[in-house]
Parts: sequence; structure tokens; C-alpha cells
Amino acid sequence: MPIPIRPAVASVPPYKPGKPAPVGPDGSSFKLSSNENPYPPLPGVIEAAQHAVQRMNRYPDMANAELTAALAAKHGVGDDEIALSTGSVAVLYNLLQTVITDGDEVLYAWRSFEAYPIAVQLTGARSVPVPLGPGATHDLEAMLAAITPASKVILVCTPNNPTGPIVPHDQLADFIDQVRDDIMIIIDEAYLEFATAPDRARFDDLRRPNVVTMRTFSKAYGLAGFRVGYCIADPAIAGAVRAAATPFGVSAPAQAAALASLAADADLLARVEELIKERTAVVTGLRDLGLAIPDSESNFVWIPAGERTAAWAAEFEAAGLAVRPFTDEPDAGIRITVGEPEANKLVLQVAGTLKP
Ligand code: PMP
Repeated sequence: MPIPIRPAVASVPPYKPGKPAPVGPDGSSFKLSSNENPYPPLPGVIEAAQHAVQRMNRYPDMANAELTAALAAKHGVGDDEIALSTGSVAVLYNLLQTVITDGDEVLYAWRSFEAYPIAVQLTGARSVPVPLGPGATHDLEAMLAAITPASKVILVCTPNNPTGPIVPHDQLADFIDQVRDDIMIIIDEAYLEFATAPDRARFDDLRRPNVVTMRTFSKAYGLAGFRVGYCIADPAIAGAVRAAATPFGVSAPAQAAALASLAADADLLARVEELIKERTAVVTGLRDLGLAIPDSESNFVWIPAGERTAAWAAEFEAAGLAVRPFTDEPDAGIRITVGEPEANKLVLQVAGTLKP
């Protein structure tokens, strides 16, 4: 007799990791499918992690005390307002676990980060996806209208993965003010460091007891493989996330690498500046080809390719570029991470050959 798996788990669509890079005819091979940072960790960061590896016979500090204190100082909050986990995806799972009971609804814009429907379903909640508005931006009016007495959590992804735009600060502040204060609002800022728009969210002005901000070391800080994410939240929520988190979930080398990266903020943000310049070049180049690229405030661009998604993605792959096609309609398209300059040049070169 097979062990019965909970239906919510048995029917969950699998999370699809970005494909590894194929090799093009000229030997080009670039992975632009997971919004990773193309640059390896800084030498000092690698050294700090290597040093920590020597103590891997021991469990790491379960409280992540040093890293928590450094993050609290960075954000001007108390240590009790920070909770870390194994990547911000894990933080999201922990956050949902802390508040969801069967029958609750979780609202989010769609299309957005593909982990949201999976995380929601695993907790036994019901997803309420609200279509994006013009320019692939959050339709906050429609999101407000979709709130019901069963709404428990609202996810706001800004900049939005995979489409790129931010939710402007004033609109986000108004939205938060109009949402019932027994609904948790999670602002997923995985790509915030890449946002240059003057009206990007200002964290300090958006703090409320029901608002949680999620951040990660995976993108701008370039530590995706180390799996370190965190949230900044009311102490009661942060405490609940810590209680729900996998014990010792952030390894000692990961804690050391994150700490060393915070200390090297200036160097890492210089790399981010380079990627932002590259992003501007890619967006401009694609628009010059006549493609309707939404504003990108992140480290990726969105080609709303519609029914040509699979065919165009195959062209990029054939040239040695792993990209991320989302083929399900009505809003199919291709997300391409901004990589090293040679990769971005190749993206534009291939895009110039695409058949309409
Ligand atoms: N949020 C968003 C919007 C993302 O795109 C990602 C990574 N793809 C994450 C969270 C998760 O990042 P991590 O678990 O690596 O911290």
C-alpha cells in the first residue's frame, strides 16, 4: 500500500531550475536563465568561506548572531527584527508556515516569481493570482479588489521577476495603507539593489507591523550557491520565522561569505553598477529592434514573445545562451539575465536575427 502523499504536495508543479548553458557553434556558452550574478565571489569572500570550511565538523551558529547583527546595523533595525534562512525562498516558506491555515488565500500579481504558487500550494493555502497591468507592472487596484475575508498574505515582488518593473514607492505606500492590517504583506526585494528609479521603494517609510521585507544574498551579492536570504519584520513575525526555519539552515561558510560580502559592499555595488549599465544597453538594443521590452529595474530583461516564445528561445539556445522561456499563455515570454558583456552582445546579436 503506497504511503498517501498529501494532495497539496502530490499535485505541486515542480520548481524548474534554469537550464545549464548550451554550447554555441563558436564555443560561446553563457547561463542567462537564473538571474545569477555572472561574477564569482570576491577573493576576500572566498577566503572567509574557506576559513569557515575548516570548522565544518561542527554545526554552524544556529542563531546566525554575527550576520544578524551586521544586517540589523545595515538596516537600522533591532537584531530581533531579522530572520535568516536557506535562501529567501526558504524565508518565504517559513513566513507562510507561520500564518497560513487551510482555506486561507494568498494574493500576488501574475506573472511573477514562479516559486510563489508552489510555496502557497504546499502550505495548503489557495493562490489568488492577479494579472499584471500595462507595462507588465503590478495592478494594485485589481489586487485591492481581489482581497476577500479569507486573504491572509499578499506578495509584492518589486522589481518584479520575470518582467522587471518596480512598484513605485508612493503607490506601494498607498496600497499598504489600504490593506487590512491583519493581512501580512511580503515585499520581495530580491533585486532591489539593481533598481535605479528614483521612486523605488524606501524601506524605512514602509515599515508597519504587518509588512515584511525579504532580501537575498543571491543576486547583487552574487552568493546564490551559498543560500542566504533574510527578512526584516516585526519582532513577533521574525521570531516565528526563526522558529519555523530549518535548524542550522545557514552553513558556517555561508554565514562567513555573507558577512565578508557586507564588509565589501562598495566593491560589490560597483559590480552592480556595471550590470546596470549592461542592462540599459540590452534593453535599448532590444527596443531598437522593435521589441516591446518593459522597463527593467533588475538584472534581467523580459521579451514578451507570446506564441513565438519557444521558437525564439530555441534560437538563443542554439547560439550557446541558456535563457528562461515561460511558454504558458496568456503572457508567454522569455526572461534573459544580464550577464557578462560578451554574453549580452551575443543576446543582441541573436535578437537581431529573430523572425517576427
Ligand atoms: N524572490 C525572487 C523574486 C526571486 O527571483 C528569487 C530567485 N530567483 C528569490 C526570491 C529567491 O532567491 P534565493 O532563495 O536564492 O534567496
